[in-house]
Amino acid sequence: MAVTGNEDENDLSGLKLGSSVASRQLKYSLIAATLLGLAITAFQIVNDYHWLDGVYHQANQRTVASGVPIVTEALLLSDPDMGKLAVSGMMVQRSIMKVMIQKTDGSTFYEESRPAGQIPTSKWAKKFFGGLQVLQVPLHDPHVEPARNIGRLIVDINPQVYVSVFMSRAAWSFLANMVFAVSMATVFATMSYFVLSQPIIRLANYIVKADPTDVEHPLEMPPMNKHDDEVQLLGSVTVGLFGMIRGQIGQLKRARDELQDANTNLEARVEMRTRELNDAMGKLEVLASTDPLTGLANRRVFMTRLEENISIWKRRDTPVSVVLIDIDRFKSFNDSYGHQAGDAVLVSLAERMRYSLRDFDIPARLGGEEFAVLLPGEEIEGAMILAERLRKVFEQDTVGFGGKHLNYAASFGVTSLPSLAGLAKLADNVAENITQLKPRENSDLADILYSVADEALYRAKDAGRNCCIMADPVRLTEHLDA
Ligand code: GH3
Ligand code: MG
Ligand code: MG
Repeated sequence: MAVTGNEDENDLSGLKLGSSVASRQLKYSLIAATLLGLAITAFQIVNDYHWLDGVYHQANQRTVASGVPIVTEALLLSDPDMGKLAVSGMMVQRSIMKVMIQKTDGSTFYEESRPAGQIPTSKWAKKFFGGLQVLQVPLHDPHVEPARNIGRLIVDINPQVYVSVFMSRAAWSFLANMVFAVSMATVFATMSYFVLSQPIIRLANYIVKADPTDVEHPLEMPPMNKHDDEVQLLGSVTVGLFGMIRGQIGQLKRARDELQDANTNLEARVEMRTRELNDAMGKLEVLASTDPLTGLANRRVFMTRLEENISIWKRRDTPVSVVLIDIDRFKSFNDSYGHQAGDAVLVSLAERMRYSLRDFDIPARLGGEEFAVLLPGEEIEGAMILAERLRKVFEQDTVGFGGKHLNYAASFGVTSLPSLAGLAKLADNVAENITQLKPRENSDLADILYSVADEALYRAKDAGRNCCIMADPVRLTEHLDA
């Protein structure tokens, strides 16, 4: 229903106007007018005929009757001039072709006729007016009683003149009626075009060009009629319908927009919630695996990683070492400087640990003032070197708290599962026993390693603290027996 811009009134944007009310009106009006014209013409012709027929007979009789006295007088007086005068008067009547005054002896007193062939006789003259007639009127002397015959008047009558008059009147009547009828039909059709066809075409063009779905722009009004008629009513109804369509479309669009908004909101909210959930899960994972005070791995993570490395030791004989660390006399430290000072020491120790280790070493806080380092791929000798280094680092660390410089120290217990090379350095039976550990569960072995390291740590405490004790490898298998 796009506007094409063609302002031609008959342009229905591609729609073809097959027939219009006006052209149909013209056709039917012409037929009706022709029939009516023919009927009126026929009526007039019949009327004309009767009238002319009357006129024809009366005129002949009156002419002849008016001529008889003068002809009689001329005959009595034997005055041919008078006879001529009388006959000439009768010949004025154009249907009279010939007048002859005959005496009783049969001789012609006077005769006058029109030139032969001047008025031919048609079959119409015969049919309608009785054709050629001869009137014979006996002439009597009016002065004697009883009347004496003095001759006769013979008059030839031809009705052809009346036929011509009749024909020409009929033709004119037909022509006039037809012209009138056709004119009226044309006037009616033209009126019908302007009254009905044109307003309807204008309205149809408006409907074709108007786009009720375009709710962005105001609805164009239909073309106005001069009269408040049915076409105007049709326009109003159309606008009403367009209005309803626009209303519905507007509602649909609003509903669609709201739905889109709701969808967008929902997507944004789902995205936000997902992000929040991921964040929370990340935090939860960190919380579950990290010690909140020091940020080091907790006992659970430490034990899991230890089990993983034990598994690698079983398959590849890759060594793994565990260093267990416990702060010395921490209880009295707390008692002397307060719990917060103790916490500061724990944090500082963790930091020193992190700086002193390699990337793949795993430091952890196992609980309280107890820490550990997992050393993947490290033999016991290397672990001892690292423990000694850490011990020195702690010993030399000074923690600033409450305006005081605080020092601390720790004891170390070290143990490991050796590589094949490590085993080779041990007594055969010990090496054999350690190898025998391999079928054991990883978690069991992890517990054994921890216990052995803890035992060494206690020995370090017993030995006076602030020192590192290497567990006897024998303890690994002895522990098993216990
Ligand atoms: P030892 O040298 O034998 O290890 O003596 P110790 O006092 O360190 O040992 P003990 O096990 O008797 O005391 C451990 C103390 O560590 C008890 C507690 O006050 C302290 N402690 C444990 N966890 C924390 C903590 O998170 N913060 C602080 N400030 N102190 C802690
Ligand atoms: Mg302790
Ligand atoms: Mg302690």
